[in-house]
Amino acid sequence: MRPLVLTPLFASLTSLPGVGPKLEKLYARLLDRETPRVVDLLFHLPAGVIDRRARPKLNEVKVGQVVTVAVQVEEHYPAPRHRPRAPYRILTSDDTGVTLTLTYFSARPDYLEKLLPVGETRYVSGTAEFYDGSLQMVHPDRVVDEKGFAALPLVEPVYPLTEGLALGNVRRAMDGALAKLPALPEWQDEAWVSRERLPGFGDALRALHRPHEPHDIAPENPAWTRLAYDELLAGQLALALVRAHMRRQSGRGTSSEGKMRAKVLKALPYALTHSQQKAVDEIVNDLALPQRMLRLLQGDVGSGKTVVALAAAATAIEAGRQAAFMAPTEILARQHLKTIAPLAEAAGIRVAILTGRERGPARKEILDRLTLGDIDLLVGTHALFQEDVAFHDLALAVVDEQHRFGVHQRLALTQKGESVDVLVLTATPIPRTLVLTYFGDMDISELREKPAGRQPVDTRTIPLDRLDEVEAAIGRAISEGKRAYWVCPLVEESEKTDLAAAQARYDELRKKFGKAVDLVHGQMKGADKDAAMARFAAGQSQVLVATTVIEVGVDVPEATIIVIEHAERFGLAQLHQLRGRVGRGAGASTCLLLYKAPLGETAKARLAILRETEDGFRIAEEDLRLRGEGDLLGTRQSGMPGFRVARPEFHGKYLGAARDDAALVLTRDPSLQSERGQALRHLLYLFGKDEAIKLIRAG
Ligand code: ADP
Ligand code: MG
Repeated sequence: MRPLVLTPLFASLTSLPGVGPKLEKLYARLLDRETPRVVDLLFHLPAGVIDRRARPKLNEVKVGQVVTVAVQVEEHYPAPRHRPRAPYRILTSDDTGVTLTLTYFSARPDYLEKLLPVGETRYVSGTAEFYDGSLQMVHPDRVVDEKGFAALPLVEPVYPLTEGLALGNVRRAMDGALAKLPALPEWQDEAWVSRERLPGFGDALRALHRPHEPHDIAPENPAWTRLAYDELLAGQLALALVRAHMRRQSGRGTSSEGKMRAKVLKALPYALTHSQQKAVDEIVNDLALPQRMLRLLQGDVGSGKTVVALAAAATAIEAGRQAAFMAPTEILARQHLKTIAPLAEAAGIRVAILTGRERGPARKEILDRLTLGDIDLLVGTHALFQEDVAFHDLALAVVDEQHRFGVHQRLALTQKGESVDVLVLTATPIPRTLVLTYFGDMDISELREKPAGRQPVDTRTIPLDRLDEVEAAIGRAISEGKRAYWVCPLVEESEKTDLAAAQARYDELRKKFGKAVDLVHGQMKGADKDAAMARFAAGQSQVLVATTVIEVGVDVPEATIIVIEHAERFGLAQLHQLRGRVGRGAGASTCLLLYKAPLGETAKARLAILRETEDGFRIAEEDLRLRGEGDLLGTRQSGMPGFRVARPEFHGKYLGAARDDAALVLTRDPSLQSERGQALRHLLYLFGKDEAIKLIRAG
């Protein structure tokens, strides 16, 4: 039950003075909620302020500046009768002898006579300008008398708006909302709050919506920080509660002697790295526990996540159960199958693939065998989610490149079995802060080291007008038997133009180098794509011109050169992924970033970072700095729940503390019964995390 004291904050906005059904619709758009509530408005924080504190005499007024001046009303000049569209002017002055004309278009004369009576003093605030040789102010923002002036906020918040909604509307509604703010118990650790000198929740909202100084609304200031921390804590608490619930709910441990796993590993032409071994141990351990595993295997490109996942699958399969391995693209699914098949065979694991390409009788046969338990490991794309896909006994779902899939899809796969353990592989090294935010309900295994024998990739930036030299170098590489990717950029957000650029480059290189050149792009038929990839993998072609279809995960260890055309058009993470296609074998590799000069500041910074480092974690942090968080995870497009108040660039640093805090709270008080626990329930409601409260075990 929601605490009663919160009721006014969860009333619809029409409970506020001045908000009717018409404005409510506009607020729905502004606040992105069908029926916005008072609390949603309160979290709509100012984007800036108007500073009316400048109070010059008229002879000191600067044009274009927002000022508040005290003036004597001298005379009214209504629009002449024969020109009703002409403005209504009011002449005013002060003791410096300078005049200020107040200009109104289509205003009602009786209203203006009341507002600005001749002979009286009025305080007028707005932007002054010069017109016809004299100072004027068109439609002053504020006109008040002595009493009104005493109550006039000289620093006014400015809010993001939507069409049809005026700043005045929002300010008035906000005043109403603040008036409804009840006294709430403190849910944060009191010692921490006072040490950090943070205001209480209500005071923080009041400080932000009624700033005294422009600085008051800065995100790094105490008021905003307080609310951001509240939001982070609410999120972390909810994640922890969900996790505790998931763990309690499921109850099947999967363990085996590890014979099958040992066979898989023995079939590898190399030994696992230390961190691969550690990850395998962690996963095997998780699988054996009678709680559901939710683990993120995070490792930079080329760090060798696939075999770790396979070792995990072997463990579940030896226990007589099944595993699924889901990749984001057809190419990748087939590549995984290719990697996995010989190892699986060596261990006696029965593997099959299911993508959009398996249709009709072939598909039916796979599904039948799957249901009977005659397939141990099913590799595939999102086709694995389809409704008619039924496992005999799915124990483990491995999801590669998680951020391409929504949370929704991740859940869909776990519903294909009884308390399915989930292992998510991600090659985009996500900064720790973001892992906590979005994957906070998961444990993390990290592959920090690269397999032995890898050499750093020699990364160079070259302006496009030196294309000839690059082509010549590719020619030399071909004659030396090397293999190269040539990546053409996304010209627009359209596959077609994208393709045209790749096709043109392919035609040109083909003319120069003949059959050694091949092409792969996203619009090709699946089988053709496979064939092109296979030819390149086998060395039948040596230059693979590609659109970004090769971005994720493609593994041809013999490829040692990657040319990226118009590198300035790619994001940092994407460039890092692309570069990760080389440097996978023992040979020395080169990455040539071709750019069109002149480079903008951000593009320049991106390319410089790439030259400087191959550390995916560092690159991800830099990317975050250059772009902001939503973009990095692609969440802006996929609509993953973001933050209302917290801004990762300012408040991300508090995430770890919020997570620790949440864990501590729940260890001491798992069902939020203590005084602080009760207070925290308020917090969860305020930030819309109350679903988590329902998961608290009674008693
Ligand atoms: P990613 O983590 O990017 O998915 P992959 O699993 O595709 O990486 O592995 C990249 C390459 O490294 C593959 O060719 C794989 O066979 C190889 N590899 C994986 N682990 C090791 C290891 N311990 N030693 C040597 N090579 C390895
Ligand atoms: Mg991979």
